[in-house]
Amino acid sequence: MYVADVRCECGLCRHTQMQRFYHSTPLHPLTLAHLGKLVGEVPQKADYACENCGEHVGPEQVVDAVLTYGFPDDSGVIRAFVSIPHRRHDALQSSEAPKVEYELISRRRLDPQELPGWEPVGERGVVKKRLDEAVVERILGRAFSPKLLWVELFEDWVEDPDGGAYACAAPGYWFFIDQSEDLTGELAESIDDADFCDASDAGDLMVIPLLESIPSALATHRYPEQMPGHWREWMSESAREALDAGDAWAEAHVSRSGVVEIMRETFDLARLTYKIDETAVDVFFSEITTPGEEVYGRGVAVSSVLRRAVYTGITPQESGRLTAEEIVGMLLRVWEPK
Ligand SMILES: [Zn+2]
Ligand SMILES: [Zn+2]
Repeated sequence: MYVADVRCECGLCRHTQMQRFYHSTPLHPLTLAHLGKLVGEVPQKADYACENCGEHVGPEQVVDAVLTYGFPDDSGVIRAFVSIPHRRHDALQSSEAPKVEYELISRRRLDPQELPGWEPVGERGVVKKRLDEAVVERILGRAFSPKLLWVELFEDWVEDPDGGAYACAAPGYWFFIDQSEDLTGELAESIDDADFCDASDAGDLMVIPLLESIPSALATHRYPEQMPGHWREWMSESAREALDAGDAWAEAHVSRSGVVEIMRETFDLARLTYKIDETAVDVFFSEITTPGEEVYGRGVAVSSVLRRAVYTGITPQESGRLTAEEIVGMLLRVWEPK
């Protein structure tokens, strides 16, 4: 979901007024390039009658525009500030070009009520002139799009296959590629990443081969093979062929604990009660019950939520949030298994 704000100066009376828009955007096709396109479209949204004089105000009167995007797993908020200074009636330099700046705020949930301010202050986040994958990874600790990370990791590996390739896509989420399952396993044994080693030693990681990632037991989806955003839709053809032919092996190592936490949070927020059972290899939510005693009968295994993350190239916490919200939706009868 994102929030778009525009601030305009009325062409007739110079009265300044703002307008806000709430939009949902499909998660799966969203990339940084697509976000950039959405930012460019924000000024086009302005459309109202001036509250002071009644004159129509539109895109030509926009002096500031802000887009605020929040990741579904609360990993952070990205704000894009567009300023079109030459449109101000008191502009000193009529030639000053429009500019865009970005503010990235880590581990933060999108608050739809919060006003953004019209320029980045950097009090809570980091301000950047340019937004690219490297900036998102450094400041928010995640890939903007884990799907694109898989695609790029494959490209890197094909160029230099010796020793395999790996990347951290988000906290508790690592991708590995090599020629075979054995070599990939050896690579995972050998990497120098303290978070990975800690999670691995704690038995918190589930290993999910990309080829076998289909979440067949996920109760929120009747036809999981057709789940929107699955990896065969966006992985390069050469990578798909190599995987299917057994010339390449790709697997994700995924943390359970972060997913359990976000699912608990989502159920708690909806005032659902539930039971949690833990085995050495999985965690089960069962007896998920509304305050009105409505019970979700099937329960949910965290392993299938982790599979969904890998199968559709989203973060484990995004998968946890989506799945838990779907279960809440089923109990409230606003969501149907697809
Ligand atoms: Zn209009
Ligand atoms: Zn006016």
